[in-house]
Amino acid sequence: MRPLWIRLADRASVAAFVVAWSAVAWQIVRASPPGQLAIALVCSVPIAVLLADLASGLVHWFADRYLDPKTPVLGPMLIEPFREHHRDPLAMTRHDFFEVSGNNGLVTLPLALVLLFVGLDADASFATRLVHVVTLAFALAIFATNQLHAWAHEPTPPGFVRRLQRARLVLSPEAHALHHESGFDRSYCVTTGWLNPLLDRTRAFAALERAVARVGLELADQARSEDRER
Ligand SMILES: [Zn+2]
Ligand SMILES: [Zn+2]
Repeated sequence: MRPLWIRLADRASVAAFVVAWSAVAWQIVRASPPGQLAIALVCSVPIAVLLADLASGLVHWFADRYLDPKTPVLGPMLIEPFREHHRDPLAMTRHDFFEVSGNNGLVTLPLALVLLFVGLDADASFATRLVHVVTLAFALAIFATNQLHAWAHEPTPPGFVRRLQRARLVLSPEAHALHHESGFDRSYCVTTGWLNPLLDRTRAFAALERAVARVGLELADQARSEDRER
């Protein structure tokens, strides 16, 4: 059983996520003509989902390939959960909603605070309004990402989730299996997985690793031993 304070912190993160992004949504609705809002919503969803998929891939790649689970702060918060996931892919399906989604809710909060601080006027340009709506949709997609990843491992996900997976609108078990079966060196994106074919084919993460090596950050021992086994 995880310590009580961590379970409370997960619940507080989810609550703060709901409050902060509801305030952003209200700010957008209050300052937007309905027609413009509808167009912004339609445009924002694919953009935000692609950005969230890319962000999920970058964070996952970094956590898989760099640093050590004993690294202060980032180790227990980021590195160890991904390493645990490789040792025991079904562990996250046993976690409750707050444990799965709490951290992701927390990392989006600075964006919400910036939007609330900047504000949105009724006479703002469409581009400004679109930025606010895309950021809101991006935060929702980031919040959903760990749950979508967990559902891709769940032997019996809810029926509507399975339908979304089959339609490839969210990460499917078949697409995500490439990450686990390849030895963890590809298909890092875990929101929808839409970007994985492109990033895998272009070997984008291998190129990124060469760039990171040039600035002196070395691969984690575990990543190196996985490379040797492959
Ligand atoms: Zn996985
Ligand atoms: Zn991984």
